Amino acid sequence: MESIERTITFSILDPEELSEDEKELLFAAYEARQKAQAPYSKYMVGAAIRVWNGNEIFTGCNVERASYTQTTHAEQAAIDAAVGKYGPKTKLKKIAIVSAPEGVEIPISFVEDLEWTIQFAHPFDPINQPIVPCGHCMQIIWENCQGDDLIELLAIHQSGSVTKTTIGHAFPWKFGPEDIKK
Ligand SMILES: [Zn+2]
Repeated sequence: MESIERTITFSILDPEELSEDEKELLFAAYEARQKAQAPYSKYMVGAAIRVWNGNEIFTGCNVERASYTQTTHAEQAAIDAAVGKYGPKTKLKKIAIVSAPEGVEIPISFVEDLEWTIQFAHPFDPINQPIVPCGHCMQIIWENCQGDDLIELLAIHQSGSVTKTTIGHAFPWKFGPEDIKK
């Protein structure tokens, strides 16, 4: 029997390693999380995306309903808003996710002066598992990556760790539009 191994890589970043655009995107996701409607799971998610089609940021948060199955996920809401503007050729450039249970204050603050800075309330604990989208959202994200598995996922863990990986690493075994072609 032959087995094949794949390596999944993510980076834990020093805030100084983030570009201005990345800080702005993370801040947008951080703000979107504050809007989450999550009375059932009490798990609040915010997502923010940039697309190649335009310069604006699209955001989304999770929105739960009493019937449960009609919950909208944050990543989905942000991507659907972009598709609503740019149509099916919408291609993601980067996505930022901030998630944590209700009541957990993400221990960072953003300051917009001449440039964005991120301040940490306290030193963060090392983590071995970054925040990643759920399987449902991996599929949704991949659908608008237009086959580019280098699209980056940024996230802030509730510890304050900022992580970066790619959709190719986060979602190594993808099912996508190419799989339903004859
Ligand atoms: Zn999801």
